[in-house]
Amino acid sequence: MLTLTHPSPNHSARRYAGKPVTPVAVCLHWTGGTYKSAVDWCTRDESDVSYAKIVGPNGEVSTLVAPDRSSWSVGKSQAPAPWKGSHGNAMTYNIALAGGPPTKPTTAQVDATVQCIKETFAHFGWPLRDVFRITGHHEWAMPRGRKVDPVGSGWLDLEEIRRRVRGT
Ligand SMILES: [Zn+2]
Repeated sequence: MLTLTHPSPNHSARRYAGKPVTPVAVCLHWTGGTYKSAVDWCTRDESDVSYAKIVGPNGEVSTLVAPDRSSWSVGKSQAPAPWKGSHGNAMTYNIALAGGPPTKPTTAQVDATVQCIKETFAHFGWPLRDVFRITGHHEWAMPRGRKVDPVGSGWLDLEEIRRRVRGT
């Protein structure tokens, strides 16, 4: 479902340098805190932070920002290859898994994330084989190394996620 369940005020138009921007990738994150605290923080005006979706450990999903809007998720950024640009928020659809190291994501959480990614691909008309569009925050954040989510400490296996979305 791309319908908003917990609308966040922290979003803007998908535009850069006065021109509309077409999203090119899913960007995955960890929130670093609990599901409840992440949803609460991202729906507060004062936080200036949001994700399009937050996925909890029981597979629960909150939708905070509509797909045609930039969620404020990536911060200072440089696009990984094959893309170019420093407007990561406008270029990505951001899905955050609640939690972070040392507690591993749950099976239900990873399952729900895969489902969310498939829905996102369908929404943007991306074929499921285009799994290069599944990226992590670490690949966008500038300077490189500023963010290690969601793969730091081996937390999330992006290759496994890509395999599951592709269905092989
Ligand atoms: Zn992040």
